[in-house]
Amino acid sequence: MSRILLIYTGGTIGMMKNPETGSLTAFNFDELLSNIPELKLLEHDISTLSFDEPIDSSDMNPSSYVKLASLIEEHFEAYDGFVVLHGSDTMSYTASAISFMFENLKKPIIFTGSQLPIGDLRTDAKENLITSIQLAGLTKLGNPVIKEVGLYFEYKLYRANRTTKVNAEHFEAFESANFPALAESGVNLKINYEKLMKPNMRKEMLVHKSLNDNILVLKLFPGLNFKTLYHIFNTPNLEGLILETFGSGNAKTDPWFLNLIKNLIDRGVHIVNVTQCVGGAVFMGKYATSEELKKMGVISGNDITTEAAVAKMMYLLDKKLGPKVFKTIFETSLRGEMK
Ligand code: ASP
Repeated sequence: MSRILLIYTGGTIGMMKNPETGSLTAFNFDELLSNIPELKLLEHDISTLSFDEPIDSSDMNPSSYVKLASLIEEHFEAYDGFVVLHGSDTMSYTASAISFMFENLKKPIIFTGSQLPIGDLRTDAKENLITSIQLAGLTKLGNPVIKEVGLYFEYKLYRANRTTKVNAEHFEAFESANFPALAESGVNLKINYEKLMKPNMRKEMLVHKSLNDNILVLKLFPGLNFKTLYHIFNTPNLEGLILETFGSGNAKTDPWFLNLIKNLIDRGVHIVNVTQCVGGAVFMGKYATSEELKKMGVISGNDITTEAAVAKMMYLLDKKLGPKVFKTIFETSLRGEMK
């Protein structure tokens, strides 16, 4: 029997239709629990907490990440595992951020949610919630099996910082294109032991609660013009840029474009190259269209997701590192977020 803390932050899982407007809004967390009598059948000891004001995940921001991290930290010793109920829309962003905020994590923090509210007859919420609790409660020789931040949705547990929401309608809403599932739920729970994070048990856990959000994600598209980019790049407080490029890290080769990138680097802005593709990796220098970016010192995001790149950028920017050290650390896998 494990002690599990269930934290409700908001999202469809706990929402109800407003009869007047027809739109979905968050409702009382206790009502959420009374909708799942199955929870009482689980062998684990479950306690619950809720954000004072549950929010749609579109309203999540770095201060909400800090609030969530603080809640987990405050109760860390008292529980064996944590399940975070969160809206699916930005779940990969929050879960990625939490993965960087908890260094040397040795207990499970499992994010889950649903596409349909828990009160809906055809809901996917119950299976997601119940299996997430079971995964968070799994132990082997008295130790938690999962010692990292996971995301469970529609029969699969993923490494959270490898996920992306890929579908707004299907129950199978998430994908982890560059890393296999950590577990699959069928008649039995099949754990992919080989792929699980193996933290150094002797190292003390550190919780980083300071993030820097002076960043921008820019998706390149054919036709992006000088005037627009010039204005965006002259945002005065910009410290980090995540450039979503084509294919294996390719971008236009027009001199005006390369000059704008160069000026940004000279200004001390850290630029990370990630691919717009759902799967695969950035390999600067493979094509002539990424050669210049490589020469200028653009950081390779390798096979990182944009969500994890945003989180890693916010986390690392706060450490005030010089450009070379920043690049080396960004290009290193810190929480299993890249190969
Ligand atoms: N809009 C909701 C949210 O992200 C969608 C969901 O929970 O799936 O909060």
